[in-house]
Amino acid sequence: MPLPLHRQSPPQWDDSLFETVVAAAINGVLAVNEHGLVSVFNAACETMFQYRREEVLGHGIAMLLASPYREEYEERLRRYQQTGVAEGAGKGRELVARRNDGTTFPIFLSIGEGMHDGRRTFVVVIQDLTDLQLERAMHAEQRAFLAAIVDSSNDAIISKTLDGKITTWNRAAEELFGYSAEEIIGTPVTRLFPEDRLHEEAQILDRIRAGHALEHYETVRIKKDGTLVDVSVTVSPVRDVKGNVIGASKTVRDITEKKLAEARLQTLSAELSHVARLSEMGQVSAAIAHELNQPLTAVLNYTNVAKRLIASTDAAAKAKSYEAVSKAGDQALRAGQIIRRLRDFVEKRESTRTLEDINAVTEDALALGLIGTPTADIKVITAFAPDLDPLLIDKVQIQQVLVNLLRNAAEAMAESERHELTVTTAAVNGTGILVSVADTGCGVSDDLAERLFRPFVTTKTGGMGIGLAISRSIIESHGGRLTMVPNQGGGTVFQFILPVAQRLVD
Ligand code: ADP
Repeated sequence: MPLPLHRQSPPQWDDSLFETVVAAAINGVLAVNEHGLVSVFNAACETMFQYRREEVLGHGIAMLLASPYREEYEERLRRYQQTGVAEGAGKGRELVARRNDGTTFPIFLSIGEGMHDGRRTFVVVIQDLTDLQLERAMHAEQRAFLAAIVDSSNDAIISKTLDGKITTWNRAAEELFGYSAEEIIGTPVTRLFPEDRLHEEAQILDRIRAGHALEHYETVRIKKDGTLVDVSVTVSPVRDVKGNVIGASKTVRDITEKKLAEARLQTLSAELSHVARLSEMGQVSAAIAHELNQPLTAVLNYTNVAKRLIASTDAAAKAKSYEAVSKAGDQALRAGQIIRRLRDFVEKRESTRTLEDINAVTEDALALGLIGTPTADIKVITAFAPDLDPLLIDKVQIQQVLVNLLRNAAEAMAESERHELTVTTAAVNGTGILVSVADTGCGVSDDLAERLFRPFVTTKTGGMGIGLAISRSIIESHGGRLTMVPNQGGGTVFQFILPVAQRLVD
């Protein structure tokens, strides 16, 4: 039931309870009698206002207040004495108090009304707000500081709700995307997503709802003017005080420059490996000429035989001539294959990655890599694991690595008794494929082992010493690792692991 609007008679004080409460109070407690004069002034008040009780008792409460509150309360007292209406009783407010020495401090003052000894009395409770205000100021300062950091950041910093609506948008975001904060706040963040990337938002929000962050995710976003921009996005969940995820904050970095630099680097390294391939093949050009000479000589021989046989009328000779011409054809095919492989290998081309069967790539490298090596009668043992996952690789570059490893292995065995070359492929716990080339050659000293992969380290007369350095950088640019370990029975094993392709967001 609502209280009647007419004045209720104020409650009676219980003296002993009142005194105990007042004395124990941490807050300042004072009482003002119906003439507006202070009749109680507790210990906390003495500390707060630096007045002794005797100095305040019997005076108006206004002496404890700073202007303009002092004048306001003097005015209130005058009105109360005229009308009997105590304004502000039962309420609290923040105002500025004044100490004995004239210094001021913020307080929260609340007034309650009661009867004491049959007279109306007002109880005033005073809370010193100095610490609280300092804390508030500190918080405000921290907030301003953080806001300044966010605003001066070169990265776009954006926050959004769990349903994907933008809630904050800093200056760098304005510059990057071309939207002002006013026009974009409150609208869906998918405005920044090109159509073929819209599916990413659901994936990102799923991760955020589960409390996970997404770091340095490289993708593409769209500006207000419709142009696309390469960006790296880091998204973290934003939680409320109870730890519930209530939104996400994201930093978006423009990586156009990085992408351009990467592309430039890729062109450079493709050119460098092209030069290395040419040098590798330059060294074996004589051997290749020899290699081509064999099938071409055979073609010549077979066609001469065929010519002679065709000249005779003998039926058996006709069958033989047919055979000789077929053989000539086979040899011409072989010569053509050698030329094609060589042309593919030395051709100047952009680096392109395609899904490849590593076993087939290794087979091709074997066909090319062992042409004209100084070591005769190499026994090649291959152990290729079946059913390997295809790899996303630059086929020619990986062949280049293999050709380099095979030729080094063959050269290392020139002086050894055993000439065994073992080439294997194997799956490595579902994440990669290992390819190894093991020889029974001269091995590598500890001192050389440390420097082996550096450019221009060679022990060969006429060697360039760039093969292994380039091979390592090719493997690393594929996210893999090229290493050397000693072979158990003497010689060395060079091996590399290439990662199987992975999804970007999982
Ligand atoms: P290059 O073949 O032009 O010398 P590489 O970078 O391919 O350049 O090889 C550097 C050096 O590493 C070689 O000169 C050789 O001393 C050593 N090396 C490479 N492979 C082997 C191997 N299989 N066995 C022993 N030593 C090797």
